[in-house]
Amino acid sequence: MQRQPERLADESFDVLIVGGGITGAGVALDATLRGWRLALIDKGDFAAGTSSVSSKLVHGGLRYLEHGEFRLVHEALHERRVLLHNAPHLVRPLKFILPFYRGFRLPPWKWRLGLALYDLLAGHDNLRRSRPLPLAALRRAAPSLERADLLGGASYFDAQMDDARLCLAVLRTAARHGAAVANYVEARSFEQQGGQVAGVRAVDRVSGKECSIRARVVVNAAGPWVDAVCRLAGETGGPLLQPTKGAHVIVPNRAGIASAFLLLHPRDGRVFFVIPWLAEVHAGEAPGATKLLIGTTDTFGQEAPDSLTVSPDEVAYLLEGCNRYLQPALAPADVLGSFAGLRPLIRARPGEPSSLSREFHIAVGPSGLISVAGGKYTTYRCMAAAVTDAVENRLGRRHRCRTRDCLLDGAPSQSWEEYWPRAVGALRRRGLPESTARHLVQRYGTNADAVADDLARFPELAAPVMPGEPDLQVEWRYQREHEMAVYPADHLLRRSRLGLYRPEVLNSRL
Ligand SMILES: Cc1cc2nc3c(=O)[nH]c(=O)nc-3n(C[C@H](O)[C@H](O)[C@H](O)COP(=O)(O)OP(=O)(O)OC[C@H]3O[C@@H](n4cnc5c(N)ncnc54)[C@H](O)[C@@H]3O)c2cc1C
Repeated sequence: MQRQPERLADESFDVLIVGGGITGAGVALDATLRGWRLALIDKGDFAAGTSSVSSKLVHGGLRYLEHGEFRLVHEALHERRVLLHNAPHLVRPLKFILPFYRGFRLPPWKWRLGLALYDLLAGHDNLRRSRPLPLAALRRAAPSLERADLLGGASYFDAQMDDARLCLAVLRTAARHGAAVANYVEARSFEQQGGQVAGVRAVDRVSGKECSIRARVVVNAAGPWVDAVCRLAGETGGPLLQPTKGAHVIVPNRAGIASAFLLLHPRDGRVFFVIPWLAEVHAGEAPGATKLLIGTTDTFGQEAPDSLTVSPDEVAYLLEGCNRYLQPALAPADVLGSFAGLRPLIRARPGEPSSLSREFHIAVGPSGLISVAGGKYTTYRCMAAAVTDAVENRLGRRHRCRTRDCLLDGAPSQSWEEYWPRAVGALRRRGLPESTARHLVQRYGTNADAVADDLARFPELAAPVMPGEPDLQVEWRYQREHEMAVYPADHLLRRSRLGLYRPEVLNSRL
């Protein structure tokens, strides 16, 4: 996937998507596989909005059961299985422990009922049935848990993903099937014909050049910027979104925690998670070297999506929650990094708590602009199918959705359990150390071979980007040539995550 912004102006497209987060990426793949000529632009890097700052869970959402969102949970649990199959290098099963404490907002029997329902809704697509954890077993399984008022608990499975790389994999798959995709191209205004949108006037933020991109249908998949893009098109129908802000912190995993925890915050009873950080669980690194992700907050905020920061109060809230349940206690000085995003949630209809709903909404404006708001990462494929159906309604021809069985870029055709040891072995035979082989297969799947090819051609790039970190300098070359990375932050925050927990690297002269 190479950056070819000139293609955008030269060709004429059936569909143009504004926004290269997971929503836009999903529609790009779906519409391309249905045979439409498609272009996608993002004003920044792909996934640089919400799609790189999620909690990185591919999950049904146990907590949504409390609000009776059975359809959403059922759909998400099935999508979890689809994603584990279609992108096994980027999505992995993750064990959760749910401890029950005296004084919890919900009594143990309600949690047990919820878990039974969760298993039932997952049906054949369940990863493993939830299990009760009597007090003694729980203490053995999680020795760092606070013991006072602990009554027992349960374990269940969900999945964890590398959100930014998954978004990239969807886009690379779309590009492989012919889509023209470009980051750092911003839609600045809309072009209209007979009162209907017929494309956008855009600027390439790398070269500064302006261009017109012509398309029969334009999709607004701009996440937290959806309303701003509607305004660009002259849509006056009022805001679609009521975003909420979510912050996370990354801390050292000093207790060597290997499972995730679902916990209730002592201040307000909200669900929050403590999760082992990404690939390290799977790559088998020594627990002492690993990190934990704690999140998230959920607040209505007025902050602009382009300039989100994590405040000391948000850090304090997250650490307070974690310290209530887990040893050793953490102080703000222990925080390695933090990040925040805006959930592009749909604005409440009367009587409906929008802040809790992860449903999505497709709006077709008077100008023909199709805007999509809401949803969650896990169910992006279903959302994309519905948006593509709406696109086809305007284009006047319907095709079958083909994304369900479409392996995403880097996914092997055999099972991950079969593929993973073989792929690592093959790289070992090419002379790569075990840890490097595991790291590359984990991150790039079947594309690890291509990175190893680069390594053979440029042995001087074998050094790590930072001492003690697995990221290699050669990956930057690969990411620039094949993953459209343009600026250091593209490498450090999305194609790898070094910049999130070693923020000093963002300011160093690499
Ligand atoms: C804190 C937090 C935790 C979450 N955790 C989870 C989770 O664990 N699991 C889960 O399933 N979901 C989770 N979600 C929800 C999920 O992350 C979002 O629903 C999803 O990422 C939204 O993707 P999007 O593509 O709609 O928006 P975005 O990823 O924000 O993409 C929109 C894109 O549009 C681009 N854009 C805007 N204006 C323009 C323009 N004028 N021209 C060109 N491009 C433009 C932006 O640059 C941006 O990249 C979480 C969300 C938050 C905030």
